[in-house]
Amino acid sequence: MVDINWDELGFDFIPTDKMFISKADASGNYDEGKVVPFGNIELSPAACVLNYGQGVFEGMKAQRTKDGKIVLFRPLENGKRMKESAERLAIPPYDPEKFVEAVKATVLANKDYIPPYKKGSLYIRPILFGSGAILGVAPSPEYTFIVFVVPVGPYYKEGFNPIKLEIIKNYHRAAPKGTGAAKAIGNYAGSLVPGKLTKSKGFAQEVYLDAKNEKYIEEVGTANFFCVVDGVLLTPRLTGSILPGITRKSVIQLAKDKLGMTVEEKDIPYEETFKSSEAFCTGTAAVITPIGSITFEEKEYIFNDFKVGPVTQKLYDLLVGIQRMEIDDSYNWVEVVK
Ligand SMILES: *Cc1c(COP(=O)(O)O)cnc(C)c1O
Repeated sequence: MVDINWDELGFDFIPTDKMFISKADASGNYDEGKVVPFGNIELSPAACVLNYGQGVFEGMKAQRTKDGKIVLFRPLENGKRMKESAERLAIPPYDPEKFVEAVKATVLANKDYIPPYKKGSLYIRPILFGSGAILGVAPSPEYTFIVFVVPVGPYYKEGFNPIKLEIIKNYHRAAPKGTGAAKAIGNYAGSLVPGKLTKSKGFAQEVYLDAKNEKYIEEVGTANFFCVVDGVLLTPRLTGSILPGITRKSVIQLAKDKLGMTVEEKDIPYEETFKSSEAFCTGTAAVITPIGSITFEEKEYIFNDFKVGPVTQKLYDLLVGIQRMEIDDSYNWVEVVK
Protein backbone atom coordinates (compact mmCIF):
# COMPACT_ATOMS: atom_id res chain seq x y z
CA MET A 1 0.00 0.00 0.00
CA VAL A 2 1.11 3.57 -0.54
CA ASP A 3 1.71 6.06 2.23
CA ILE A 4 -0.67 8.90 1.38
CA ASN A 5 -2.88 10.87 3.71
CA TRP A 6 -5.97 11.00 1.49
CA ASP A 7 -7.46 13.87 3.49
CA GLU A 8 -4.53 16.16 2.75
CA LEU A 9 -4.35 15.72 -1.00
CA GLY A 10 -4.37 18.90 -3.04
CA PHE A 11 -3.46 19.45 -6.67
CA ASP A 12 0.30 19.00 -6.40
CA PHE A 13 2.72 16.77 -8.21
CA ILE A 14 3.40 13.50 -6.40
CA PRO A 15 5.42 10.79 -8.12
CA THR A 16 3.62 7.47 -8.60
CA ASP A 17 4.91 3.97 -9.42
CA LYS A 18 4.52 3.56 -13.14
CA MET A 19 4.14 5.40 -16.43
CA PHE A 20 3.41 4.36 -19.99
CA ILE A 21 5.86 5.22 -22.76
CA SER A 22 5.85 4.74 -26.51
CA LYS A 23 8.11 6.21 -29.16
CA ALA A 24 7.79 6.82 -32.87
CA ASP A 25 10.05 7.74 -35.74
CA ALA A 26 9.33 10.77 -37.94
CA SER A 27 6.71 8.88 -39.94
CA GLY A 28 4.69 8.12 -36.82
CA ASN A 29 5.25 4.39 -36.40
CA TYR A 30 4.70 4.22 -32.65
CA ASP A 31 6.12 1.15 -30.97
CA GLU A 32 3.63 -0.89 -28.94
CA GLY A 33 4.68 0.93 -25.80
CA LYS A 34 5.07 -0.34 -22.28
CA VAL A 35 4.45 0.41 -18.67
CA VAL A 36 7.76 1.26 -17.01
CA PRO A 37 8.81 2.61 -13.60
CA PHE A 38 7.97 6.30 -13.26
CA GLY A 39 11.09 8.42 -13.59
CA ASN A 40 13.01 11.09 -15.42
CA ILE A 41 13.51 10.85 -19.14
CA GLU A 42 16.55 11.79 -21.14
CA LEU A 43 16.31 14.42 -23.86
CA SER A 44 18.83 16.05 -26.15
CA PRO A 45 19.14 19.80 -25.47
CA ALA A 46 18.28 20.07 -29.17
CA ALA A 47 14.96 18.23 -28.71
CA CYS A 48 12.28 19.88 -30.83
CA VAL A 49 9.89 20.23 -27.88
CA LEU A 50 12.46 22.18 -25.84
CA ASN A 51 13.39 24.55 -28.63
CA TYR A 52 10.22 24.95 -30.62
CA GLY A 53 7.43 23.81 -28.33
CA GLN A 54 6.23 20.90 -30.43
CA GLY A 55 4.13 19.27 -27.74
CA VAL A 56 0.50 18.60 -26.77
CA PHE A 57 -1.16 17.16 -23.69
CA GLU A 58 -4.43 15.90 -22.25
CA GLY A 59 -6.02 15.98 -18.81
CA MET A 60 -8.46 13.38 -17.51
CA LYS A 61 -9.20 11.53 -14.32
CA ALA A 62 -9.97 8.11 -12.91
CA GLN A 63 -12.00 7.77 -9.77
CA ARG A 64 -13.53 5.18 -7.50
CA THR A 65 -17.25 4.60 -7.30
CA LYS A 66 -18.99 3.87 -4.01
CA ASP A 67 -18.64 0.12 -4.59
CA GLY A 68 -14.94 0.47 -5.43
CA LYS A 69 -15.01 0.31 -9.23
CA ILE A 70 -12.42 2.36 -11.12
CA VAL A 71 -14.03 4.57 -13.74
CA LEU A 72 -13.02 6.91 -16.55
CA PHE A 73 -15.18 9.57 -18.19
CA ARG A 74 -15.34 9.60 -22.02
CA PRO A 75 -11.68 8.64 -22.46
CA LEU A 76 -11.97 8.16 -26.22
CA GLU A 77 -12.91 11.85 -26.51
CA ASN A 78 -9.54 12.75 -24.99
CA GLY A 79 -7.83 10.36 -27.38
CA LYS A 80 -9.53 11.97 -30.36
CA ARG A 81 -8.74 15.45 -29.14
CA MET A 82 -5.08 14.57 -28.65
CA LYS A 83 -5.04 13.35 -32.25
CA GLU A 84 -6.46 16.68 -33.44
CA SER A 85 -4.07 18.68 -31.26
CA ALA A 86 -1.14 16.63 -32.56
CA GLU A 87 -2.15 17.17 -36.18
CA ARG A 88 -2.20 20.94 -35.67
CA LEU A 89 1.44 20.81 -34.51
CA ALA A 90 2.64 18.38 -37.21
CA ILE A 91 3.03 15.60 -34.64
CA PRO A 92 2.17 12.14 -36.02
CA PRO A 93 -1.00 11.31 -34.07
CA TYR A 94 -1.21 8.51 -31.55
CA ASP A 95 -4.15 6.24 -32.30
CA PRO A 96 -7.15 7.23 -30.08
CA GLU A 97 -8.13 3.62 -29.29
CA LYS A 98 -4.55 2.80 -28.31
CA PHE A 99 -4.51 6.00 -26.28
CA VAL A 100 -7.41 4.65 -24.21
CA GLU A 101 -5.61 1.31 -23.74
CA ALA A 102 -2.46 3.13 -22.60
CA VAL A 103 -4.47 5.24 -20.15
CA LYS A 104 -6.17 2.17 -18.72
CA ALA A 105 -2.88 0.30 -18.36
CA THR A 106 -1.31 3.26 -16.54
CA VAL A 107 -4.27 3.62 -14.20
CA LEU A 108 -4.24 -0.09 -13.33
CA ALA A 109 -0.48 -0.07 -12.79
CA ASN A 110 -0.98 2.73 -10.24
CA LYS A 111 -4.19 1.41 -8.69
CA ASP A 112 -2.98 1.97 -5.12
CA TYR A 113 -2.76 5.70 -5.80
CA ILE A 114 -6.44 6.11 -6.69
CA PRO A 115 -8.03 7.92 -3.75
CA PRO A 116 -10.96 6.20 -2.03
CA TYR A 117 -14.53 7.18 -2.99
CA LYS A 118 -15.06 10.97 -2.71
CA LYS A 119 -11.51 11.58 -1.46
CA GLY A 120 -10.34 12.80 -4.84
CA SER A 121 -9.22 11.23 -8.08
CA LEU A 122 -6.26 10.00 -10.04
CA TYR A 123 -5.43 12.82 -12.42
CA ILE A 124 -4.17 11.42 -15.73
CA ARG A 125 -1.73 13.38 -17.84
CA PRO A 126 -0.97 12.06 -21.34
CA ILE A 127 1.75 14.03 -23.15
CA LEU A 128 3.00 13.76 -26.73
CA PHE A 129 6.01 15.67 -28.00
CA GLY A 130 8.83 15.95 -30.49
CA SER A 131 11.71 14.35 -28.63
CA GLY A 132 14.19 14.22 -31.50
CA ALA A 133 17.16 16.56 -31.88
CA ILE A 134 16.81 19.21 -34.55
CA LEU A 135 18.36 22.59 -35.34
CA GLY A 136 16.32 24.27 -38.05
CA VAL A 137 12.61 24.83 -37.48
CA ALA A 138 10.98 21.63 -38.72
CA PRO A 139 9.00 18.74 -37.29
CA SER A 140 10.96 16.48 -34.97
CA PRO A 141 12.59 13.27 -36.26
CA GLU A 142 11.29 11.36 -33.21
CA TYR A 143 8.21 11.46 -30.96
CA THR A 144 7.47 10.33 -27.43
CA PHE A 145 4.07 9.58 -25.93
CA ILE A 146 3.91 9.27 -22.13
CA VAL A 147 1.03 8.80 -19.71
CA PHE A 148 1.65 9.55 -16.05
CA VAL A 149 -0.77 9.90 -13.16
CA VAL A 150 -0.97 11.89 -9.93
CA PRO A 151 -3.46 11.46 -7.08
CA VAL A 152 -5.33 14.72 -6.40
CA GLY A 153 -7.78 15.78 -3.71
CA PRO A 154 -11.45 16.62 -4.25
CA TYR A 155 -11.83 20.00 -5.93
CA TYR A 156 -14.48 21.34 -3.59
CA LYS A 157 -13.02 20.54 -0.19
CA GLU A 158 -14.18 23.88 1.19
CA GLY A 159 -17.56 23.66 -0.52
CA PHE A 160 -18.95 24.55 -3.92
CA ASN A 161 -18.12 28.27 -3.72
CA PRO A 162 -18.60 30.84 -6.49
CA ILE A 163 -15.41 32.50 -7.71
CA LYS A 164 -14.60 36.05 -8.80
CA LEU A 165 -13.33 36.58 -12.32
CA GLU A 166 -11.87 39.53 -14.18
CA ILE A 167 -12.19 40.25 -17.89
CA ILE A 168 -8.77 41.27 -19.14
CA LYS A 169 -7.97 43.36 -22.19
CA ASN A 170 -4.17 43.50 -22.10
CA TYR A 171 -3.60 39.89 -23.04
CA HIS A 172 -5.09 37.29 -25.34
CA ARG A 173 -4.92 33.54 -24.92
CA ALA A 174 -5.19 32.59 -28.58
CA ALA A 175 -5.64 34.20 -31.97
CA PRO A 176 -7.88 33.32 -34.91
CA LYS A 177 -6.24 30.58 -36.97
CA GLY A 178 -3.63 30.04 -34.25
CA THR A 179 -3.32 27.06 -31.91
CA GLY A 180 -6.08 27.89 -29.43
CA ALA A 181 -8.20 24.86 -30.31
CA ALA A 182 -5.30 22.50 -29.67
CA LYS A 183 -4.11 21.51 -26.20
CA ALA A 184 -0.70 22.76 -27.27
CA ILE A 185 1.84 23.25 -24.47
CA GLY A 186 2.84 26.70 -25.71
CA ASN A 187 -0.65 28.10 -25.17
CA TYR A 188 -0.19 27.72 -21.43
CA ALA A 189 3.17 29.43 -21.04
CA GLY A 190 1.63 32.60 -22.44
CA SER A 191 -1.17 32.55 -19.90
CA LEU A 192 1.13 32.56 -16.85
CA VAL A 193 1.72 36.33 -16.74
CA PRO A 194 -1.94 37.38 -17.16
CA GLY A 195 -2.96 34.64 -14.72
CA LYS A 196 -0.50 35.91 -12.13
CA LEU A 197 -1.55 39.56 -12.56
CA THR A 198 -5.23 38.71 -12.18
CA LYS A 199 -4.63 36.54 -9.12
CA SER A 200 -2.53 39.27 -7.49
CA LYS A 201 -5.64 41.48 -7.65
CA GLY A 202 -7.64 38.87 -5.76
CA PHE A 203 -9.47 37.23 -8.66
CA ALA A 204 -9.57 33.47 -9.09
CA GLN A 205 -8.98 33.56 -12.84
CA GLU A 206 -8.91 35.77 -15.91
CA VAL A 207 -11.52 35.88 -18.68
CA TYR A 208 -10.11 36.24 -22.19
CA LEU A 209 -11.81 38.14 -24.98
CA ASP A 210 -11.40 37.23 -28.64
CA ALA A 211 -8.22 38.61 -30.17
CA LYS A 212 -9.81 40.05 -33.30
CA ASN A 213 -12.67 42.19 -32.00
CA GLU A 214 -11.76 42.28 -28.30
CA LYS A 215 -15.46 41.94 -27.71
CA TYR A 216 -16.53 38.32 -27.35
CA ILE A 217 -15.92 36.02 -24.38
CA GLU A 218 -13.50 33.23 -25.22
CA GLU A 219 -12.43 31.28 -22.16
CA VAL A 220 -11.84 31.49 -18.44
CA GLY A 221 -8.16 30.78 -17.72
CA THR A 222 -8.14 27.13 -18.71
CA ALA A 223 -11.86 26.43 -18.58
CA ASN A 224 -14.86 26.96 -20.86
CA PHE A 225 -17.43 29.63 -20.07
CA PHE A 226 -21.23 29.36 -19.67
CA CYS A 227 -23.90 31.83 -18.54
CA VAL A 228 -27.68 31.89 -18.28
CA VAL A 229 -29.40 34.92 -19.81
CA ASP A 230 -33.21 35.06 -19.94
CA GLY A 231 -33.36 31.33 -19.20
CA VAL A 232 -31.15 30.39 -22.14
CA LEU A 233 -27.81 28.69 -21.57
CA LEU A 234 -25.12 30.50 -23.56
CA THR A 235 -21.57 29.41 -24.32
CA PRO A 236 -19.02 30.75 -26.81
CA ARG A 237 -19.14 28.91 -30.12
CA LEU A 238 -16.01 27.00 -31.13
CA THR A 239 -14.37 29.63 -33.30
CA GLY A 240 -11.03 27.86 -33.64
CA SER A 241 -9.36 29.81 -30.84
CA ILE A 242 -11.37 28.08 -28.11
CA LEU A 243 -10.42 24.71 -26.64
CA PRO A 244 -13.26 22.24 -27.30
CA GLY A 245 -13.76 20.99 -23.74
CA ILE A 246 -15.22 17.55 -23.14
CA THR A 247 -16.93 18.85 -20.02
CA ARG A 248 -18.35 21.68 -22.16
CA LYS A 249 -19.73 19.21 -24.68
CA SER A 250 -21.22 17.04 -21.93
CA VAL A 251 -22.83 20.03 -20.17
CA ILE A 252 -24.45 21.21 -23.41
CA GLN A 253 -25.99 17.77 -23.91
CA LEU A 254 -27.21 17.47 -20.32
CA ALA A 255 -28.74 20.96 -20.35
CA LYS A 256 -30.70 20.12 -23.50
CA ASP A 257 -31.70 16.54 -22.67
CA LYS A 258 -32.15 16.58 -18.91
CA LEU A 259 -33.03 20.21 -18.11
CA GLY A 260 -34.92 20.84 -21.37
CA MET A 261 -33.02 24.11 -21.80
CA THR A 262 -32.31 26.01 -24.96
CA VAL A 263 -28.54 26.12 -25.43
CA GLU A 264 -26.94 28.62 -27.77
CA GLU A 265 -23.35 28.33 -28.91
CA LYS A 266 -22.64 31.81 -30.22
CA ASP A 267 -20.48 34.90 -30.04
CA ILE A 268 -21.20 36.40 -26.61
CA PRO A 269 -20.32 40.11 -26.30
CA TYR A 270 -18.87 40.59 -22.83
CA GLU A 271 -21.57 43.15 -21.90
CA GLU A 272 -24.21 40.46 -22.41
CA THR A 273 -22.74 38.39 -19.58
CA PHE A 274 -23.39 41.24 -17.12
CA LYS A 275 -27.11 40.38 -17.36
CA SER A 276 -26.56 36.73 -16.42
CA SER A 277 -28.80 35.20 -13.78
CA GLU A 278 -25.93 32.76 -13.16
CA ALA A 279 -22.65 31.73 -14.76
CA PHE A 280 -20.11 28.94 -14.44
CA CYS A 281 -17.07 27.48 -16.10
CA THR A 282 -16.20 23.88 -16.98
CA GLY A 283 -13.14 21.64 -17.12
CA THR A 284 -12.06 18.15 -16.13
CA ALA A 285 -10.40 19.04 -12.83
CA ALA A 286 -13.24 21.01 -11.23
CA VAL A 287 -16.07 19.76 -13.50
CA ILE A 288 -18.20 22.89 -12.95
CA THR A 289 -17.14 26.02 -11.08
CA PRO A 290 -19.82 28.58 -10.22
CA ILE A 291 -18.95 32.19 -11.06
CA GLY A 292 -20.10 34.71 -8.43
CA SER A 293 -19.02 37.84 -10.22
CA ILE A 294 -17.19 39.23 -13.21
CA THR A 295 -15.24 42.48 -12.97
CA PHE A 296 -14.63 44.63 -16.00
CA GLU A 297 -12.71 47.93 -15.84
CA GLU A 298 -12.97 48.01 -12.03
CA LYS A 299 -16.73 47.45 -12.00
CA GLU A 300 -17.98 44.21 -10.49
CA TYR A 301 -21.11 42.49 -11.85
CA ILE A 302 -22.57 40.02 -9.36
CA PHE A 303 -24.65 37.00 -10.38
CA ASN A 304 -27.42 35.47 -8.27
CA ASP A 305 -26.26 37.34 -5.11
CA PHE A 306 -22.99 35.42 -5.26
CA LYS A 307 -24.82 32.14 -4.61
CA VAL A 308 -24.70 28.96 -6.67
CA GLY A 309 -27.50 29.18 -9.25
CA PRO A 310 -30.08 26.43 -9.82
CA VAL A 311 -28.90 25.53 -13.34
CA THR A 312 -25.27 25.36 -12.18
CA GLN A 313 -26.20 23.13 -9.25
CA LYS A 314 -28.39 20.80 -11.35
CA LEU A 315 -25.76 20.37 -14.05
CA TYR A 316 -23.06 19.75 -11.47
CA ASP A 317 -25.16 17.12 -9.68
CA LEU A 318 -26.04 15.42 -12.97
CA LEU A 319 -22.52 15.33 -14.31
CA VAL A 320 -20.85 14.27 -11.07
CA GLY A 321 -23.64 11.70 -10.50
CA ILE A 322 -23.05 10.19 -13.93
CA GLN A 323 -19.27 10.21 -13.45
CA ARG A 324 -19.60 8.31 -10.18
CA MET A 325 -22.17 5.90 -11.66
CA GLU A 326 -24.85 7.13 -9.28
CA ILE A 327 -27.17 8.39 -12.00
CA ASP A 328 -28.22 6.34 -15.01
CA ASP A 329 -25.63 6.89 -17.74
CA SER A 330 -27.79 6.58 -20.83
CA TYR A 331 -24.95 7.99 -22.95
CA ASN A 332 -22.40 5.31 -21.97
CA TRP A 333 -19.99 8.07 -21.01
CA VAL A 334 -18.47 6.12 -18.13
CA GLU A 335 -16.00 3.29 -18.66
CA VAL A 336 -15.08 0.81 -15.95
CA VAL A 337 -11.37 -0.06 -15.90
CA LYS A 338 -10.64 -3.71 -15.17
C1 LIG B 1 -8.39 21.42 -21.09
C2 LIG B 1 -8.97 22.77 -21.27
C3 LIG B 1 -10.33 23.05 -21.09
C4 LIG B 1 -11.30 22.04 -20.54
O1 LIG B 1 -11.45 20.90 -21.28
P1 LIG B 1 -12.07 19.58 -20.64
O2 LIG B 1 -12.03 18.59 -21.73
O3 LIG B 1 -13.45 19.91 -20.22
O4 LIG B 1 -11.20 19.25 -19.47
C5 LIG B 1 -10.78 24.31 -21.40
N1 LIG B 1 -9.95 25.29 -21.82
C6 LIG B 1 -8.63 25.06 -21.98
C7 LIG B 1 -7.78 26.16 -22.48
C8 LIG B 1 -8.11 23.80 -21.70
O5 LIG B 1 -6.80 23.59 -21.84
